[in-house]
Amino acid sequence: MTQFSPLQDRFGRRIDYLRLSVTDRCDMRCSYCMPQGFSDYEEPEDWLTFDEIERVVASFARMGTSRFRITGGEPLLRRDLSGLAVRLSSLEGVTDMSLSTNGTQLARHAAALKKSGITRLNVSLDSLCAERLHSITRRDALAQILDGLLVAKACGFEPIKINMVVMAGVNEDEIETMAEYCFRHGFVLRLIETMPMGETGRNSGYVDLQPIRLRLQARFGLVDGLVRGGGPARYLVSPDGAGSIGFITPMSQHFCETCNRVRLSVDGTLYLCLGQENQFALRPLLRDGISDDELDAAIRSAIELKPERHEFREQPGKLIRVMSMTGG
Ligand code: SAM
Ligand code: SF4
Repeated sequence: MTQFSPLQDRFGRRIDYLRLSVTDRCDMRCSYCMPQGFSDYEEPEDWLTFDEIERVVASFARMGTSRFRITGGEPLLRRDLSGLAVRLSSLEGVTDMSLSTNGTQLARHAAALKKSGITRLNVSLDSLCAERLHSITRRDALAQILDGLLVAKACGFEPIKINMVVMAGVNEDEIETMAEYCFRHGFVLRLIETMPMGETGRNSGYVDLQPIRLRLQARFGLVDGLVRGGGPARYLVSPDGAGSIGFITPMSQHFCETCNRVRLSVDGTLYLCLGQENQFALRPLLRDGISDDELDAAIRSAIELKPERHEFREQPGKLIRVMSMTGG
C-alpha cells in the first residue's frame, strides 16, 4: 500500500476536489457551450464504465480527495446515474458528493438522487423568460426546469445553487429578477463570467461581473459572506443570511492560485486545468489491468502536470475544447 500523503501539485496546491464527467452528451445546446450541430461525441465503448469510474474515485479518495462533483454534458442522460452515485458516495473517504445539471430531467430523478448520497445540487438557469431561455439553450425547457427545482427542494437538497452565465445583450438585464426568484425560494444564485472555451465560449458576450457585484450589493444591502461548497465563487449575503449571490470571475479576477481541482472526462482523460491542454489518459491504464498502487502513482504523476494558471485573457483563442467535452 502506498504511503499516505495528500495529493499536491508542483505549486503546493492541495487537490481535494474532482469533477467527474459521466457523459459528453446533452439535450441542450447552450450558446456559450455546445456548438449547434455538435456531434463529435465519444464512442460508448470509450466511456469509462461505472466500475472504472469507481476505481478512479476510490484512488483519489485514498489520496485525501474528499469532494466529488458529477457533471457532463448532461449527467442525467447517463443511465442509472443514481446507481453510480450510491456506489461513489459509499466509498471510504468520500465526504461530499454533488451534481451539476441543466435540470430538464431533475423532477423525475430528484428523489432517487437524494437517496443516493448526493446532497448538493447546482442547476444551470440563464433566464426566467421562456423565449429567451429557448434562444440561449435551443430548447423549450423553462417549465420543466422550474418544476425540477421545486421537486429537488421538496426532496431536501441543500443548498441548491442556480448557475447563471451572464451574457452581454442577452440576459444581463435579468440579474435582479433572478436574484429575487432565488431569494424567494431559498436558492443560492451564482453569476458566472463566460470563458473563451471554443468558438461558442468566445462569441457569447463576456461581461465583467465586478461592476455588477457593486450594483447588487447596493440594491439588496448585501455584505461579504461565505457559503458552503468551497469552490471559486466569492459571495455576498444578506445581513440576515437568508439570501446569497456568488460571483465566479475566471476572467476579471482569476482564482488559479487557490485552484484545488482536476477533471475526469467521460473517456477517462484527466484534465489538469479548464483553460489548458495539460492532460493524462487513465483509460488505457485501467483497461491494461493496472493495480491500485499503480493507479495511485499514475494519478500522482498526472497531478505534476497541473499548470500554474489558465491564460484565458492572454490567449483567448487557444482552447478549441468546449466545456461539455471536459466536464464543466
Ligand atoms: N449540463 C450541466 C449544466 O449545464 O449544469 C452540467 C455541465 S455544464 C458544462 C457545467 C457548467 O458550465 C454550467 O453551469 C454552464 O453554464 C457552464 N459553462 C459552459 N460553458 C461555459 C463557458 N464557456 N463559460 C462559462 N461557463 C460555462
Ligand atoms: Fe448542455 Fe450544460 Fe453545456 Fe448547456 S452548459 S449545453 S446544458 S452541457
